[in-house]
Amino acid sequence: MREELLREIEAELDDLRRSNEQEEISRKAAILRNEPEIAALLTQREQLIQGTLRDMLRGQAKAEDLPGEMAGISAEIRAALHRKGYAENYLAPIYRCEKCHDSGYEGDVVKTPCTCLMARYKEKIKEQMGLDAEGNETFERFDLNVFPDSPLSGSEITQRNMMESVRTLCENWANQYPENRRRDVLLIGKSGLGKTFLMHCMANRLLERGKEVRLISAYSFLQTARKSFFENDGGTDELMDTPVLFLDDLGSEPLMQNVTIEQLFNLINERQARRLSTVISTNLSIKELRTRYTERIASRLTDSRNCLVVTLEGQDVRRNGRS
Ligand SMILES: [Zn+2]
Repeated sequence: MREELLREIEAELDDLRRSNEQEEISRKAAILRNEPEIAALLTQREQLIQGTLRDMLRGQAKAEDLPGEMAGISAEIRAALHRKGYAENYLAPIYRCEKCHDSGYEGDVVKTPCTCLMARYKEKIKEQMGLDAEGNETFERFDLNVFPDSPLSGSEITQRNMMESVRTLCENWANQYPENRRRDVLLIGKSGLGKTFLMHCMANRLLERGKEVRLISAYSFLQTARKSFFENDGGTDELMDTPVLFLDDLGSEPLMQNVTIEQLFNLINERQARRLSTVISTNLSIKELRTRYTERIASRLTDSRNCLVVTLEGQDVRRNGRS
């Protein structure tokens, strides 16, 4: 898990606990001020606790005596609250998560992250990667009907048939990771055929499976790489290290002499050497990849022994909200 995100979530939980504590205090103060009957019961309960503790210290009471009597008064308090038009649990501690009481962790000795913390972590990762927070970009919601059901030029199969196969390939890849036969994926096709959508589906599936992924556009990658190159700030380290990197829209970034190609080669080379997966989408054809990025890079990207090369064809379907 990413430390910086964990720290952010823990800070959010701290804020939540603090604001709930404030709310508890102000609720109690309002009751003490406005509801003498309930105030008396609260005082009675506090005296009971203190009295029992005192007696226990003197050896005159047992810890077992307390819960029964407490439960009696607490029930009276709840009933009184109800009579006065409050929620029965109006004075109870306020938690968003009953399991961890908003600490984010369960267990006393060995602490494990609570499901609420894990859910928030996934949300934050999605936010950070620019994935749709509503979860529309998933294989489950992948709607083949947006793709034309007419034959592709020079072929018998339709764009929809083709997309169905592509969806299966990509979904299987995301399900099988990290045991894939081919470590990398290259999605080739013009704009508006669904490459980014497919990538987001894959990223979402991997996240759901608890895998570490990063998603960056080729444009942002080059900006980071350029800064890193001139300032030596280690900005690309995380991109080199992340188990699965999604690099979107290769070919749309500006081509800068001595930077673009070197940095791109570095990234691919490093990641392949570390046996980490890279999923790339591009509007360029294989031939255009060679021309733009040299044979050296193109052959790394398209080597079918290591890379699942998926080519998309057909009409632009972006007017249906996909790209
Ligand atoms: Zn929790």
